[in-house]
Amino acid sequence: MSDSLTRREFLGAASTLAAGAALTPDMVSGRSAAAVHVRPQARQVAVASANGIRAVQLAAELMDQGVDTLDAAVEGVKIRELDPEDTSVGYGGLPNEHGVVQLDASCMHGPSRRAGAVGALEGIKTPSVVAKYVLLYTDHIMLVGKGAKEFALSYGFQEEDLLTDKSREIWLRWRANRGPDDDWLNVPAEKDLEFERHGTINCNVVNAAGDVSSVTTTSGLAWKIPGRVGDSPIIGAGQYTDNDIGAAGSTGRGESNIKVCGAFLTVEFRRRGMSPTDAALETLRRVVTTTESRLLDDQGRPKFGLSFYAVKKNGEFGAASLWSGRRYAAFDGREAALHDSAHLFERGR
Ligand code: ASP
Repeated sequence: MSDSLTRREFLGAASTLAAGAALTPDMVSGRSAAAVHVRPQARQVAVASANGIRAVQLAAELMDQGVDTLDAAVEGVKIRELDPEDTSVGYGGLPNEHGVVQLDASCMHGPSRRAGAVGALEGIKTPSVVAKYVLLYTDHIMLVGKGAKEFALSYGFQEEDLLTDKSREIWLRWRANRGPDDDWLNVPAEKDLEFERHGTINCNVVNAAGDVSSVTTTSGLAWKIPGRVGDSPIIGAGQYTDNDIGAAGSTGRGESNIKVCGAFLTVEFRRRGMSPTDAALETLRRVVTTTESRLLDDQGRPKFGLSFYAVKKNGEFGAASLWSGRRYAAFDGREAALHDSAHLFERGR
């Protein structure tokens, strides 16, 4: 079975759109003389977290060749999933506290209005593709744990050890140096093993026809409690697409995003007319108001990081983070580049 959106689905989605277009107010009606209404073409755009510069480039190239938006976005994030050097996504991602890599991913396809997700998936390098298979081949939206793995194996995905030498060593050092009361002898920390506990890739794309898709994939929080599922596989938190409006997605502290359904909320703010950047900032303000006091500093600012990335159906895009100094990747219709994210709080103040 092909892992791409089939031609039938694609044409089905296109004809639904065409039927919808007949109801839109910009159609010629009544007795007035026929006017020519030219629909403005959307800018072909891809927006991702800062680790997605190659993802946005590839997604844009694929959309140029006529590849469907979701297929293009998933191919983009797959670069990071398969990269053994990236300790926050897919193969080589940092494991849970027992040393087991558990991956989360979700995606949405605007034209067909479908969604798919996997949580706590073990042994499969590309959870974004498995999430897409859930979208394509089931009447469900989310599969987790053992069931998600069995589902992937049934389609021929290979089961593999997702720990690389590097991620295993980082985990073993963390376990050894965990605290004074454990039974492991401490080992000295080495500079060349620096790593981030967090990390995720989110990618949102719009093609020239204004069709939208989004995908988010991660190994989640390093040393998490086994079975912990973050925001990335939650439809409406890790990512969200509404083909009439646009898409949004997130990276950063998942627990804080889940409580506000941040990707959905960002798209909803967009629906009310906000720009992608303002919508992302407004979602972050909501995050602050829903943060418990143990996670706020003495000035009421979150002690964690969280970012939202958003695209509008017409290709306008933006991103915002809680803290200054964050960047994001975008293909703006011409080139792939890193841009500064808007922010709520200035670091160091
Ligand atoms: N959002 C991810 C999670 O909570 C982690 C991250 O992006 O840093 O699982």
